Amino acid sequence: MREFHPKTIIEPFRIRSVEPIHFTSLAQREQALKAAGYNPFLLRADDVLIDLLTDSGTGAMSSRQWAGMIASDESYAGASSFYRFEAAVREITGFKHVIPTHQGRAAENILFTNIAKPGDVIPNNTHFDTTRAHVEHAGAEARDLVIEEGRHPRLIHPFKGNMDVQALEETIRTVGRERIPAIMITVTNNSGGGQPVSMANIRAVSEVARRYGIPFLIDACRFAENSWFIKIREEGYTDKTPMEIAQEMFSYADGCTMSAKKDGMANIGGFLALNDDALAAQCRNLEILTEGFPTYGGMAGYDLEAIAAGLYEALDSHYLRYRIRSIAYLGDRLTAAGVPIVQPTGGHAVYLDAREMLPHIPPTQYPAWSLNNALYLLGGVRAVEIGTVMFGLQPDGSEQPARMDLVRLAFPRRTYTQSHVDYLAEVILEAYAQRETLPPYHIVSQSPVLRHFTVQLEPVIVHHKSGR
Ligand SMILES: *Cc1c(COP(=O)(O)O)cnc(C)c1O
Repeated sequence: MREFHPKTIIEPFRIRSVEPIHFTSLAQREQALKAAGYNPFLLRADDVLIDLLTDSGTGAMSSRQWAGMIASDESYAGASSFYRFEAAVREITGFKHVIPTHQGRAAENILFTNIAKPGDVIPNNTHFDTTRAHVEHAGAEARDLVIEEGRHPRLIHPFKGNMDVQALEETIRTVGRERIPAIMITVTNNSGGGQPVSMANIRAVSEVARRYGIPFLIDACRFAENSWFIKIREEGYTDKTPMEIAQEMFSYADGCTMSAKKDGMANIGGFLALNDDALAAQCRNLEILTEGFPTYGGMAGYDLEAIAAGLYEALDSHYLRYRIRSIAYLGDRLTAAGVPIVQPTGGHAVYLDAREMLPHIPPTQYPAWSLNNALYLLGGVRAVEIGTVMFGLQPDGSEQPARMDLVRLAFPRRTYTQSHVDYLAEVILEAYAQRETLPPYHIVSQSPVLRHFTVQLEPVIVHHKSGR
């Protein structure tokens, strides 16, 4: 028989445990949103039908992960669950020391408290917010050096998360090697739209780091998604497995930080992995103070088991093909209908360009906030504003437009199916059809820092001229 290659990419799993999602009427959603101060962060999750607020810790676990959790070893020290976790991290990353933490940010805290001090500079392609916060908390400067292409939402480039290697060398020359305790690269570049970093770029950054004797670390949260992009977009990697690609990526680095809530396929957890014996010893000392004994580090034995299995599942080709394709599929449908999105779609999310889509709403009246609320009202969909509500409030209390006004639709792993994505496309296209009627918003009350979590807003009533 002739082999054939179906075009349909199916979910590479069947479902044997289901969680009902909650349908609401428009009137109920209007009431819920009003009661939440028009802030989707303040909605009850039960009032949301499809929740794309984040891909962090929101995924579904496999039967194998659950089996490992039930059989976990909860010993305080030296639990067999730890050794399984450590073996998985070592096989994939090759790093010598594996330091478990309760989340990615705890790994960042332990790392930067030990290596960074006032006056230092940490280069990264783009720092994730918690990474930046920990670098700055240690008194150092977090410097973003993503390539120019990565700063333009409509520009197509296969590896928009790449670091500008020339800018990196310039930074080292002007700042001085002794004031740069580490160079970091984030895969995929979360704050830069989930855009991947090429192997060639990782190799080039590593060469620079070695030449100057600076440790090179990877923020590895989405290492498996990044490996898939290298496989499908970079010459020479088509026939390699995601595992081989991940191993090569890590081989160029001296360590990594990881949030297991992403490509660890777990609901909680993380780790710091390092080759340097002395630094690892220092980090373990601080870990005991803040996280716990070095063989559990803020996690239960069953969390260690979930991650030990999840790290391998994240590298499964069928899973990665389905995941990256589901996101691209939504992006393609929106692009075909003229909806402006950040191009090309990245590894974990689709970003709608609300500033472009809603030109009648000035940035200081929060177009992306308005669009996100419209998605909720129309379809019970919750995404997140990445725009002027999140970044617009300046330390002096003034209001400035953010660099972009985006709505991020982040996909929990293995959670939604193609029909959910079709539904999503329909909801977004309906919001697009009604875009001229979406209201501007103004802020009623806010907190001075990280205001988006608790801010209360109201739609501004616009009086249209007659005849419309
Ligand atoms: C989520 C994330 C972190 C922080 O991890 P937490 O587990 O949320 O503390 C760090 N870096 C990147 C790129 C992330 O996406």
